[in-house]
Amino acid sequence: MSAVLAPLSHAALPQALPARTIAVAAGDGIGPEITAAVLGVLAAADPTLSFQQVTVGLKAYQSGASSGFGPEALDAVTGHGVILKGPVMTPSGGGYKSVNVSFRKLLGLYANVRPSIAYHPFVTAMHPEMDVVVIRENEEDTYAGIEHRQTDEVVQCLKLVTRPGCERICRYAFEYARAHGRRKVTCMTKSNIMKLTDGLFQQVFEEIARDYPEIKAEHMIIDIGTARMAARPGDFDVVVTPNLYGDILSDVAAEVSGSIGLAGSANIGRDCAMFEAVHGSAPDIAGKNIANPSGLLLAAVMMLRHLGRHEPATLIHNAWLRTLEDGVHTGDIFRAGISKRRVGTQGFAEAVIERLGLRPRHFPEVAEGNTMPALPATGAAAPSRPQRKELVGVDVFLHWDEQARDPAVLGRRLETLRTAGLGFELITNRGVKVYPGGCPQTLRSDHWRCRFSGDGSTVDRREIPELLVLLAEAGFDVVKTENLYAFDGEPGYSRAQGG
Ligand code: NAD
Repeated sequence: MSAVLAPLSHAALPQALPARTIAVAAGDGIGPEITAAVLGVLAAADPTLSFQQVTVGLKAYQSGASSGFGPEALDAVTGHGVILKGPVMTPSGGGYKSVNVSFRKLLGLYANVRPSIAYHPFVTAMHPEMDVVVIRENEEDTYAGIEHRQTDEVVQCLKLVTRPGCERICRYAFEYARAHGRRKVTCMTKSNIMKLTDGLFQQVFEEIARDYPEIKAEHMIIDIGTARMAARPGDFDVVVTPNLYGDILSDVAAEVSGSIGLAGSANIGRDCAMFEAVHGSAPDIAGKNIANPSGLLLAAVMMLRHLGRHEPATLIHNAWLRTLEDGVHTGDIFRAGISKRRVGTQGFAEAVIERLGLRPRHFPEVAEGNTMPALPATGAAAPSRPQRKELVGVDVFLHWDEQARDPAVLGRRLETLRTAGLGFELITNRGVKVYPGGCPQTLRSDHWRCRFSGDGSTVDRREIPELLVLLAEAGFDVVKTENLYAFDGEPGYSRAQGG
């Protein structure tokens, strides 16, 4: 032990925490060594914790579990409610599914919480004052994984956004901000283009924000928001955003904070939660005892807070900050002049254990009050009044590759097909209107959206199969249909671009 350190006083250890078991999966690559280091720190700070080790990752894939974990791992997570997970390697090809994606979906882990904090001057950072938390929706959006190939040229991915999904992630973000004394929540979407899907996310965000008048709420378009995050992260406090944007934005935030290797991440659901480092399994340095265990350690701190074990969480967090300040650094953050002692994975964990009970001197001391909101209220944000839903038409998607792909030829043929209540209206190609009217420069694929509508009147749903029969008899290959509804008279579908 270093001479400058006071010995850990027994009183510093948490006294009366109830015993608790957590599921632990070491994962692949550097996973086992960083997990062993982190469990050592946890055992020292919270002796009433015990660990049930489960197998996830390569060993599980090799024994035939295509999702990367077997039923015993799932039982352990659902039984204990939490899992601390090391990084996992997903073998490419062979139908293997990502452990992370499978856990998120199976266990309903809807909120991904990623703090990005600069530890300047001890860790080099582009933005020394940065302290941002990205809260990413974790289950919906294009990550539903519903994809189809429809024509020779065209594949599609379904972007699903639900009101309850938006409500719980937006409410979680505000609850998180409130619990952590943060003052602003920024919502980022592309609602100017995806008016229905991202528009719903933004609308629900604005509805939920009214319940938190003490927290500033703002919306920003994701592209400029991401650029600002890279250039001026001080503009942000908590950010909430749909799944795909959150995936990208949280990496940008972690990178510019300079601490991607130090970042932990929480995946929170109603009944279960998973905690992990942001980095991967780092096969290039596996087995060498040089990996930095900090990302997984900070994830474990979030886990303790999630479990309401604030005393050990605070002890570890402060000891970790003090270790950084004392210049005890692993090779990835070691810098001559700033760092004082280069340590390996295990040595770093021992240095943190030595400092349990000590406070940081440069960084603000971590307070105990910060709780992870484990179960945000999920009440409906808007009155759940059923709206008047009216069928007003149908979009029929055709695979059509004839007559030099001339939309006028297709349009004239479709104009001859009509039922009592459905008549041809327009054609778009990749969302751009190509008939009637259109622009010869528009690139035309073999995938055509052909809109038939009731011309302002309600359509009887039996008309749609009738129309499909007419199209089939005329030799058209219908690859899908989408019904067009109005809700309380408002169109529930996108207009054609360029129309
Ligand atoms: P990576 O994060 O594993 O490594 C990127 C670089 O950072 C490497 O040079 C590595 O040595 C270094 N690094 C990462 N963690 C470090 C640590 N704790 N200490 C010191 N240096 C560290 O990213 P990658 O190389 O793109 O991915 C490797 C594997 O990890 C892939 O199979 C990938 O699919 C997987 N992965 C898993 C997760 C997860 O399980 N959550 C996340 C990301 C990547």
